[in-house]
Amino acid sequence: MLMDSVFDENKAYNFDWSYLGDIRTGRENLGPQMPVSVYRLFEYTLRAVLQKNYKKEGCADILREAGRLAGREFCTHLLDSTLPPDQFIAQLSRVFIDMKIGVIRIESFDEKQLKGYMTLGEDLDCSGLPVTGETVCNYDEGFLSGILSCYFKKAVTAVEIDCWAKGDRICRFDIHRE
Ligand SMILES: [Zn+2]
Repeated sequence: MLMDSVFDENKAYNFDWSYLGDIRTGRENLGPQMPVSVYRLFEYTLRAVLQKNYKKEGCADILREAGRLAGREFCTHLLDSTLPPDQFIAQLSRVFIDMKIGVIRIESFDEKQLKGYMTLGEDLDCSGLPVTGETVCNYDEGFLSGILSCYFKKAVTAVEIDCWAKGDRICRFDIHRE
């Protein structure tokens, strides 16, 4: 069957979880994992091209938007959104570790105000990067925003305030309502 058949022009984004494919069948011998350096090579070359074409802020916005879309899909397909907030966050931390995305810690979080601070250690995107004095985890900002917005069913934003690339050992996100 042609892949085009699952495209839906009415959807805001031309994405479907099925586009990730059947990795078990497709990579029978190589398996589902690969080195972080390959992921980063993809991410940082894509970032370089986006910056060339859309300038720095345009690039950051695109990465945030893609991250938000990914976060929503991640939440829908891999997380149980019927859990109460504390169990949902515990589940999120577990899945982030299982999938080797990073180590989530909640510094503070007010479930009613949807406000707080979250950190991500050993982050897939930036840990170990050269220090440039800037936060670089725009995709993560979107990713966390998408997950939290999907779960709480309200527009939530995560803004990175500390980052390895800024000289910190951990990424810290300010979570708040939009
Ligand atoms: Zn970071």
